[in-house]
Amino acid sequence: MPAPGASWGRYPRAKQQIIPLHWRDAPLPEATGTLLAYGNGRSYGDSCLNDGGTLLHTRGLNRLIDFDPATGILRCEAGVLFSEILAFAVPRGWFLPVVPGTRYITVGGAIANDVHGKNHHRAGTFGEHVSCFELLRSDGSRTVCSRAVNTDLFRATIGGLGLTGVITWAEFALKRVPGAQMATETLRFHGLPEFFRLSAQSEADHEYTVAWIDCSGSGRSFGRGLFIRANHGTSSGTIAPPRRLRMPFTPPLSLVNRSTLRAFNAAYFHGSRQGHAVVHYEPYFFPLDAIADWNRMYGPRGFLQYQCVVAPANADSAVAGLLQRIAASGTGSFLAVLKVFSDRPAAGILSFARAGTTLALDFPNRGAPTLALLEQLDDIVVAAGGAVYPAKDARLKGARFRRYFPQWEQILPHVDPRFSSGFWRRVRET
Ligand SMILES: Cc1cc2nc3c(=O)[nH]c(=O)nc-3n(C[C@H](O)[C@H](O)[C@H](O)COP(=O)(O)OP(=O)(O)OC[C@H]3O[C@@H](n4cnc5c(N)ncnc54)[C@H](O)[C@@H]3O)c2cc1C
Repeated sequence: MPAPGASWGRYPRAKQQIIPLHWRDAPLPEATGTLLAYGNGRSYGDSCLNDGGTLLHTRGLNRLIDFDPATGILRCEAGVLFSEILAFAVPRGWFLPVVPGTRYITVGGAIANDVHGKNHHRAGTFGEHVSCFELLRSDGSRTVCSRAVNTDLFRATIGGLGLTGVITWAEFALKRVPGAQMATETLRFHGLPEFFRLSAQSEADHEYTVAWIDCSGSGRSFGRGLFIRANHGTSSGTIAPPRRLRMPFTPPLSLVNRSTLRAFNAAYFHGSRQGHAVVHYEPYFFPLDAIADWNRMYGPRGFLQYQCVVAPANADSAVAGLLQRIAASGTGSFLAVLKVFSDRPAAGILSFARAGTTLALDFPNRGAPTLALLEQLDDIVVAAGGAVYPAKDARLKGARFRRYFPQWEQILPHVDPRFSSGFWRRVRET
């Protein structure tokens, strides 16, 4: 687990006062400097950090408040983890409407980044399923926001990067499932055209689609990967989740380098079982959660994640350009993820998910060369009418941010004057 006050990529580092919140009805604590809510630190960069200021650590707001078993409507405090909701809901035949690639995120963090999952083509982002929440501002005011009341603040807070105040509780609808089983199918593909074909073919019959792509592939192996599609299982039969392992220590150097990357990717591509399987929902949705503290594998300098989306019209050539650039750099991650987003309207003003294809992968932090590579990837994304995901970012400059989110000024009237983050200062001041 990251210590409160760190982000998942362990880069950049920040020093801030950390004040735990325990009671949703309590006033905001006295603190000097700027404020920012902190959930469970599963953002990779500095959107959850507030160097020189105060973090309001919300994990103490961890109570389920109300659940209606007839409709699946759940009201809970904002520091409740998705893992805690799943532990409560799945045995009762319910599931979260949208889950990202880790279950160790809080409800507040899910709203503030308007997270997406493998079912974006069916269900959109998490924010679409939130009916209302309470926002506590630095002037002590409490505002309940929904699609019917305080709608502008509602839309500014969904995907609002924690800048509008502290969400104390939220209400959203769970969806019915037969049980913990997932019926999955894994297919190999040998290039981007095949990936796009599989994606288009799978959306009608599969609630979840995602692909792993070999970011080190070149020549005949360029653009190869595994396409994994799934639905919730039809049986309520029991199935055991796998055991969790732990990364025992931080190695002095990143374990991810040119040769481990190539070897892992080739082994993963050729060694993974193809075809149908019935598995527990944990390894399907949250494969990386199987190794606690896996982020330490990148060594003491940490790593940066790059997640972008490129517009549908340019997706094939832009993704190819990104992969070529990454393969030529000899860096990148074991698990690069590719997924097609649908064109549903965004739930929040600054929501990241939009029509197009999203690519996400990690880079060991090698300092200037890594930052230069990510700038080059940005050039491709800008030209392809895309955007970079702030939840994963640690280095984006203001000019790029404004290009990716041309509507960004619409959030300004709703930003709490005392709230800020490392990310926000960077994109405002550069
Ligand atoms: C392995 C892994 C896989 C991931 N996969 C995906 C994915 O598939 N899709 C996706 O969308 N994201 C994904 N993410 C990113 C992650 O879902 C988001 O960064 C999420 O917001 C983290 O939630 P958190 O509770 O840890 O919040 P933090 O990271 O602590 O904070 C995130 C933001 O939420 C704000 N915030 C937190 N709590 C509150 C509150 N109570 N009130 C107001 N603002 C608040 C913070 O100020 C900050 O701006 C992944 C992350 C990891 C580590």
